[in-house]
Amino acid sequence: QSFPDGDAAIRSTDDDAAHARVSAVRKGYLKDPYIQYLVPRLHLIPTRPPLINIGTYVRSEVIDKLMVKWLDLLDESSQAQIVSLGAGSDSRFWRFTDLPPKAKIVKWIEIDFPEIVAKKALAVRKHSKLSEAVGPDLAIEKGGTVLRSSVFNILAVDLRGEPSEALQPLEVLLSDGQPVLLLAECVFPYMSPETSAAIIRWFTERYSRVSIISYDMFGLGDAFGKVMRENLQIRNIELPGVDDNPTRQSLEHRLHGCGLSETNSVTLKNARAACFPGPEVDRISGLERLDEVEELDLVLGHYSITWGSKDETGAAARWRVE
Ligand code: SAM
Repeated sequence: QSFPDGDAAIRSTDDDAAHARVSAVRKGYLKDPYIQYLVPRLHLIPTRPPLINIGTYVRSEVIDKLMVKWLDLLDESSQAQIVSLGAGSDSRFWRFTDLPPKAKIVKWIEIDFPEIVAKKALAVRKHSKLSEAVGPDLAIEKGGTVLRSSVFNILAVDLRGEPSEALQPLEVLLSDGQPVLLLAECVFPYMSPETSAAIIRWFTERYSRVSIISYDMFGLGDAFGKVMRENLQIRNIELPGVDDNPTRQSLEHRLHGCGLSETNSVTLKNARAACFPGPEVDRISGLERLDEVEELDLVLGHYSITWGSKDETGAAARWRVE
């Protein structure tokens, strides 16, 4: 498969993430009643190896747990605003409508390239299971590249643009004084550290209550990292946002430089070992035979979920994932 430009290659990573999710759902790791409406031609998507299914499961569940915890820690009067950067085909908005803390979410804004937004907007238009949750004021505009409603919004924005211009459409949607949670699930690897820092700073400089959950690769200086980079380079995908630093704390330090004082992080390897109750561990280990345990730990050790808050109200140290 060849791509006309690097951006098409970057956009193709949405298919990687969505297809891995389809596979993890098919094999019983995750429950996701909405993914079937967001991903076309489901039956043609091959099931992934156990290692990918487990990684997808741990990543998705730990981010969900952190989001639920963040919502739980908000006081009764808080109105949560979620901004998902590089949201792709993520079904989380719909999955969270099924959870009780949804009552506190007043805004859910997703950002991605226009092609990805158009695909998602089309799916919402086509499937009542998706559009009903968005609500009666759903409007799809600008050739399908903008989806608006009072709660759920999708915007077509190239996040590498100057934040004062690129992120300006958010100003009318977000209220200062109310908590903002940035979700950056595997999007910062595709842009320079300076660019992702400028994005985060745009939020921390404008809004008084900002928190973030970021999922990234790190430490690609070793043999595993070299292979991973090469595999992506074959597809014309570069990872300018991933350095060779083998410690996940380097990701936390990046957040400190962007006005987020409270930070925390966990590798997928450690999360798999520590963040799930015994019966759930038993259920997962019974799903598929796993021959490559060492390889699994090696791979999962290169992925980190990092979270942080600007202020005490969203104190990251208190977000527990177990
Ligand atoms: N967050 C989703 C998830 O975890 O399932 C999708 C992750 S996918 C690996 C990366 C997403 O980020 C893609 O949908 C891609 O189009 C988007 N993306 C990458 N660079 C971007 C940019 N400069 N501006 C907007 N979106 C971007």
